[in-house]
Amino acid sequence: MKRREFIQKTGIAAASAVATAAISAPAVLAKKTYRWKMVTTWPPNLPVLQTGAVRFAKRVKEATDGRIQIQVFAGGELVPPLGVFDAVSSGTVEVGSGASYYWAGKVPAAQWFSAVPFGFNPQGINAWLYSGGGLKLWEQVYAPFNLIPRPQGNTGVQMGGWFRKKMDTIEDFKGLKMRIPGLGGKVIAKAGGTVVLLPGGEIFTSLERGVIDATEWVGPMHDLRMGFYKAAKYYYYPGWHEPGTCLEVIFNKKVYDSLPKDLKIILDAVAMETNLWSLSEFEAGNGAALQELITRHKVKLIRFPEPLLEELRKMAQETLEEEANKDVMSRKVHEAFKAFKKQVGLWGSISENAYYNVIADKYALE
Ligand code: CA
Repeated sequence: MKRREFIQKTGIAAASAVATAAISAPAVLAKKTYRWKMVTTWPPNLPVLQTGAVRFAKRVKEATDGRIQIQVFAGGELVPPLGVFDAVSSGTVEVGSGASYYWAGKVPAAQWFSAVPFGFNPQGINAWLYSGGGLKLWEQVYAPFNLIPRPQGNTGVQMGGWFRKKMDTIEDFKGLKMRIPGLGGKVIAKAGGTVVLLPGGEIFTSLERGVIDATEWVGPMHDLRMGFYKAAKYYYYPGWHEPGTCLEVIFNKKVYDSLPKDLKIILDAVAMETNLWSLSEFEAGNGAALQELITRHKVKLIRFPEPLLEELRKMAQETLEEEANKDVMSRKVHEAFKAFKKQVGLWGSISENAYYNVIADKYALE
């Protein structure tokens, strides 16, 4: 073969190979199907929490036209409930769902992104995360663990809990055995109580037999399902310890970063949509369940006395300062949280708070 002929032929071959690649590359990308596993911290079928994770997977599949297919495993089905963080971090699975306060032992700074005693309500935490820099900080906290977090739900303001005796003053917490996790538990311990950690399935029996004197769980919808009204007489409010718990979906960072942009946007959008769906489900379900608890089961609703709440609030502030001293990141997150709370505090008190105070009585009676 002459040199010129050779160049011509190979040149044409190379050009045609490039053309083939240019045509087929987008087609190959578009066809790529991701099959993932998602593990959660929740029991199977737990309303809104586990069903929300299942809904998330279903919506992602629909929105991506089947390009991302996620198989969901409840707590214990593939990994233990509290093994979710490590399973996603290590890449054993691609996605997880739970609440960031479960990882406090590993990552103290994570606690501020789920529930802070006397902290934000759902509106406040969403404002902080989406519009006040909170989510960027959360990403920084999880980055060393190869994780990308997104808010995926909110329980709304929780209830204060079920007590077998009346709680009149802060002194009544002395010696009280209560099942209450997280930062709220640390506050109860400061007040002289004994914090008892129990798996979900053992709480009712322990309360009924007096092994514990009190428990908190979630709100009326989930509390009704647990039957706590049969084991404790007094149902206290408000849930000062979890005033709007944010739930999370976590992605393995390498997996998430390697996705094309459109799929990242879909994952983020479905997480955001699930966040709103979850809060709406909680608000509607809690309203109906509260009516049932009062009218059918004759449950006594009691508001924690103001001086008792004030004592708890002071102890919560001390607890948060102690937690913030655990590492540099916790301090950074706590300071950002406090600054945002200050920024929105006055607005909240003359908007939401003032409006609720005006309508509160009428709202309940209409
Ligand atoms: Ca709770």
